[in-house]
Amino acid sequence: MKISDLVITPLAFADPPLLNSTGVHEPLALRTVVQLVVDGASAGEVVGLGEGSGERDVLDRLELVRAAIIGQSVFDTGAIELIVNAVLGPDVTPIQKRAVFSIVEVACLDAQGKLLGVPVTDLLGGAVRHTVPYSAYLFYKWAAHPAAPGGGSPDQWGEALDPAGIVAQACRMIDLHGFRSLKLKGGVFHPEDEIAAIRALAVAFPGMPLRIDPNGAWSVKTSKYVAGELAGVLEYLEDPTLTTAAMAEVAQVASMPLATNMCVISPETVPEAVRLDAVQIVLSDHHYWGGLRHTRELGAICDTFGLGMSMHSNSHLGISLAAMTHVAAATPNLAYACDTHYPWNSADDVITTPFAFVDGALAVPAGPGLGVELDQDRLAELNKRYVDSGRTTRADTAYMRLVDPLYDPMLPRF
Ligand SMILES: [Mg+2]
Repeated sequence: MKISDLVITPLAFADPPLLNSTGVHEPLALRTVVQLVVDGASAGEVVGLGEGSGERDVLDRLELVRAAIIGQSVFDTGAIELIVNAVLGPDVTPIQKRAVFSIVEVACLDAQGKLLGVPVTDLLGGAVRHTVPYSAYLFYKWAAHPAAPGGGSPDQWGEALDPAGIVAQACRMIDLHGFRSLKLKGGVFHPEDEIAAIRALAVAFPGMPLRIDPNGAWSVKTSKYVAGELAGVLEYLEDPTLTTAAMAEVAQVASMPLATNMCVISPETVPEAVRLDAVQIVLSDHHYWGGLRHTRELGAICDTFGLGMSMHSNSHLGISLAAMTHVAAATPNLAYACDTHYPWNSADDVITTPFAFVDGALAVPAGPGLGVELDQDRLAELNKRYVDSGRTTRADTAYMRLVDPLYDPMLPRF
């Protein structure tokens, strides 16, 4: 059961012009897929899949890790984590190390599941739910990418720059996927406009849980104001302002829970948040909490301190979605609908059978392993797109400046 290779493939997939507090998504999102090759002895060769950030530094670190883990047992994820930490050395932060290890750990668990003939969920203690609910991830967006040849043609989602546009987007998301909770990426327009959008959603979808996440675009004063205006309307308010101390000030007056994937992002950041009672819900993300088992451990941390647990998402494809679904199914207190960008990106997926939401939820893949199969032709196609693009990093602000040369990403903006 020894690891014999780690094939690392960067790729680029189509992404709509989604607006956020630092700019706008570029026409291509970058991602990395790994194929962990394991000599399964009598079981034959097995390949475990992992997916994570496509940033150049992550790729470089994966290359360093590759040589060091060949020959290790695929079941020794604890030892592999120590190897990753040692190889990357003291100049790489613990959070950066976890981002690398998480990709490898998911590939190890996929391979383990394939060797044992069980789903990854079974390796995490078993499923406590058989379907995992996701929320519709709504974005302000342009109709088309400005940088596309000829100025770009409108995508199928069209423009969403005001409350009516956001409600129309929500209707389409719900028609297509059946979502039963709604999250709006905010921090784009004046808070009064975003309050109006949330109120419009509340009118259009009575009783449906609503969230807004301005990614720290608001001052403490503005955050307190918005919390007051949306009292009784929001399920939770996500990262209204930057820093744990500032979140704590907002939490003192907010009637709804505050959630975060920006100030509690690692075990080291939990104590201050607990001491200050700064947040009430932690958004997990196995990509930066160090894999699926550490995400389950985060569940225990949240239980210990009486914190709720939800799940954060970045632009991703189906291997990540499979991993997210397995860990959500195996984490009892991950009780909120999870975030996912998948509806925005699934047309370019690298798995042979893309996921389909039913009533806004996914059935836990039956496995073995993650329960997904890699489409090698599509992987090669998206890798060529990555190479041809010449891109190595995400640059939402630089892309926004093509349209608005004076765009200032400094936060808080409002
Ligand atoms: Mg967030």
